[in-house]
Amino acid sequence: MINKKIAIIGLGYVGLSMAAFLGNHFKVVGVDSNKEKIRTLEKGRQYFYEPKMSYYLKRAIKNGLTFTDQITKEIVSSDFVFITVGTPIDKYGKIDLSNIKSVSTSIAKNMTNLKNNPSIIIKSTVIPGTAMHVVKPILEKNDLKESVDFDLLTNPEFLREGLAMHDTISPHSIVIGGSNNASIKKLTSLYKATYTKKQNIIETNNITAEVIKYANNAFLATKISFINSIANICQKLPGTNVDKVAEIIGMDPRIGKQFLKAGPGYGGSCFPKDVQALINFANNIGYEPILLDAVKNINTLQVNTVMNLIKQNLKNLKGKKICVLGLSFKENTDDIRESVSVKLVDLLLKQGCNVFVHDPKAMDNIQLVFKDRITYTDSLKDILVDSDCAVIMTPWQDYKNIKEKDLLTMRNPIIVDTRRILHIDNEKISYVGLGIG
Ligand code: NAD
Repeated sequence: MINKKIAIIGLGYVGLSMAAFLGNHFKVVGVDSNKEKIRTLEKGRQYFYEPKMSYYLKRAIKNGLTFTDQITKEIVSSDFVFITVGTPIDKYGKIDLSNIKSVSTSIAKNMTNLKNNPSIIIKSTVIPGTAMHVVKPILEKNDLKESVDFDLLTNPEFLREGLAMHDTISPHSIVIGGSNNASIKKLTSLYKATYTKKQNIIETNNITAEVIKYANNAFLATKISFINSIANICQKLPGTNVDKVAEIIGMDPRIGKQFLKAGPGYGGSCFPKDVQALINFANNIGYEPILLDAVKNINTLQVNTVMNLIKQNLKNLKGKKICVLGLSFKENTDDIRESVSVKLVDLLLKQGCNVFVHDPKAMDNIQLVFKDRITYTDSLKDILVDSDCAVIMTPWQDYKNIKEKDLLTMRNPIIVDTRRILHIDNEKISYVGLGIG
């Protein structure tokens, strides 16, 4: 098994985590169409921040992990070819499968006259039916047959950014969808050879695997929008705290305590696009997904709750120095895709505020968005000086450690804490916790 050759196409959060991990066990080639990313990776460096990745990446490179920007015959003749390219949504909210189609076309071109029958594995999140109705017809264009000349599997990924290596090394479950038992078993045995601990491997068909991934993300997004609704109710009820409510309902095993942290709304590269793509897909197949519409709408509106908390405490925002603390969509990542902080900064600029921002890792990414329209501050201490309000958006450890003496350097020590991570007991500081009545 150790001799198996693996190719991973698309080296973002999912593909690079996989390459860094599997590269420690097998002969792996990573492919990405972005030449600049390949050049950086060839130097042994990662091009985004993800804890613990650099350790595995360096070891994998020592073990023979290589990179290329081309899908060649050699790549396609690997035993396992994982597709991990991005699957964004278009302007109508429909999944955009162009990366999947272009990779499938390149694989098809290189798949003729192979000595082996590669397993082509879709790891990207794709709308139900994609494997069988989109990818399979492309791969079969050159008179090749699925289950005869190649296998086509669906193996969705569940990792969390910020914990990508942890989740790649210890997945909570591995879902493998395929059209026949033999092809599923091949991938199952690869995973069995990879993981030392016994894994929870679920074998099913392609379309069920595709639905499982969307159901998973949609349910987690639902939990977030649910607790944010409860937070907005608590906000109006003096004496309540959404965290206490969440803690107690989370004790009910039917509910569970995870994903009950109220905040400014979910962001990132997955939940917003996946909920939207599922809504679009459901409508197209004749089902009106009222619940998912509500989940999405609650999330879109949650930034207004944050704005209202700022306004209630500052009245006129024009010319005020507002510090936005935390720009990545969650802690331990520099990813700002669909981050609610970006939406908040936009709204604050529209109100004529002087926006100052801080983030331990995402400053380079945010500068590409706002250029010279806002002020970037590396020091948490400095940003607070003479400011009118500080809004904690991302629960980075640095913000949990903010000292009261630094908050007292603000012109108006008003703290809007959307994650309730600070515990302030000082009457000179106005502390407003989202979800605390
Ligand atoms: P990403 O945007 O970080 O990376 C995708 C990579 O694919 C990029 O480096 C891009 O250059 C490359 N790419 C695009 N088209 C290509 C092509 N034609 N040939 C070769 N490379 C190409 O994406 P990601 O966050 O790693 O997500 C990948 C997939 O996994 C998506 O479907 C996503 O929904 C899903 N997913 C993501 C996460 C997550 O937390 N990021 C978790 C689970 C599942």
